[in-house]
Amino acid sequence: MKKIVLGCIADDFTGATDLANNLVRAGMRVVQTIGVPSGPLGAEVDAVVVALKSRTVPPAQAVAESLAALAWLQAQGAQQIYFKYCSTFDSTARGNIGPVTEALMDALQTNFTIATPAFPDNQRTVFKGYLFVGDVLLSESGMQNHPLTPMADANLVRVLQSQTTRRVGLIAHTVVARGAPAVRERMAQLQAEGVGVAIVDAVSNDDLLRLGPALKGMPLVTAGSGVAIALPANFGITPSDQASRLPVASGLQAVVSGSCSLATNRQVLDFMKQGHPALAIDPLRIASGADVAAEVLAWAKPLLTQGPVLVYSTADSSDVKSVQGRLGVEEAGAMVERTLAAVARGLVQLGVRQLVVAGGETSGACVQALGITQMQIGPQIDPGVPWCHAAIEPPRPALRVLAAPQGGVADLGAARRSSATTGDGGLHLALKSGNFGSDDFFTKAFTMLK
Ligand code: ADP
Repeated sequence: MKKIVLGCIADDFTGATDLANNLVRAGMRVVQTIGVPSGPLGAEVDAVVVALKSRTVPPAQAVAESLAALAWLQAQGAQQIYFKYCSTFDSTARGNIGPVTEALMDALQTNFTIATPAFPDNQRTVFKGYLFVGDVLLSESGMQNHPLTPMADANLVRVLQSQTTRRVGLIAHTVVARGAPAVRERMAQLQAEGVGVAIVDAVSNDDLLRLGPALKGMPLVTAGSGVAIALPANFGITPSDQASRLPVASGLQAVVSGSCSLATNRQVLDFMKQGHPALAIDPLRIASGADVAAEVLAWAKPLLTQGPVLVYSTADSSDVKSVQGRLGVEEAGAMVERTLAAVARGLVQLGVRQLVVAGGETSGACVQALGITQMQIGPQIDPGVPWCHAAIEPPRPALRVLAAPQGGVADLGAARRSSATTGDGGLHLALKSGNFGSDDFFTKAFTMLK
């Protein structure tokens, strides 16, 4: 099998899809894996994005997982490694962007890399080392109040310096604007001064495209997903429809939504307004012990043959707060995730082969319940959300689903692996993180697959 050229390590699941989506749009054929695979790849691609969940775990664990991903990517032939983090530079006081960057540099025996979360398509820009979200500094964007990764300082040189023993420097916009030769010159100068990691300014896609050629041959690049638009050209790869080609879609259609973001609330309303059947899940009913997943599947079964159905726990913030007040924040979240994951698994067993999942955590739970470990990345539906395709088990009788204990997750992995060899068409999946997507996202997604 042909070797991959670019190996990517992403510190969370939907961020990995976002990166993969940008690489595909720039012409690479990409597979995203959930965690570090235990064996070789099943498809011939240019890049692999290994999705970890390492953003907020203890630094030593993030380092160990990232190094395991690195070793696997190197075994697949990766010539360049891309460490991908959030475009809001989400990190705790201890890391993990600094520690992971440093560990990867050590393992790759390189003394220099860049760091830039710039993603102009999503209004993340870096200027004089300061990260802006839209028109305001990161530290005024709401991210200063994030429950897990509060970002109270927008100066990325300072933030990264506090997480690493390597010296952190800056490649300012005045340099980037002059193009790749000027960037290379500045990199050489910074290295001579003992700088190990350079924050790079970028306020537009043009800046990222000017930066791209200067990254050719660099063993390690660290960035948000923005820089991805400029890397495939370094390997002689240009945008092409071939890169996003997936098998022809078939089967029934469904949406499972556990996101309570404003955008998802609008999308749920829009789907219902267009006349499609939708069923709300009540977290308090789950807590009462009812087999909500079985009830939902019994409701969906006769409707699925007529078109897409929606199952949602999506609610506005006052309803969510009230439920959280009664059940506890984590317990409510975990209960809903378990139920929606069981619903997703049951829907696939009923014949759904085009599945949209809304919510980052919800997506993680559903993908795990479906036993999916690798996804081929296809065409973009909306910025940051592509259709993906995964091998799955052959259909099973619905009876099994309805009798399954609620929240119980069967091992579908073995069956999934067998479907990879029998080639039964697999599952088209769109995993949408909270605030992504236009109001008509759910219907638009299915129209796109026709
Ligand atoms: P997003 O991408 O919008 O953040 P996530 O799926 O990551 O969506 O997170 C939403 C969280 O809220 C999940 O843990 C989910 O189980 C939980 N949740 C969903 N609906 C409700 C609800 N009605 N009440 C309480 N928690 C909910």
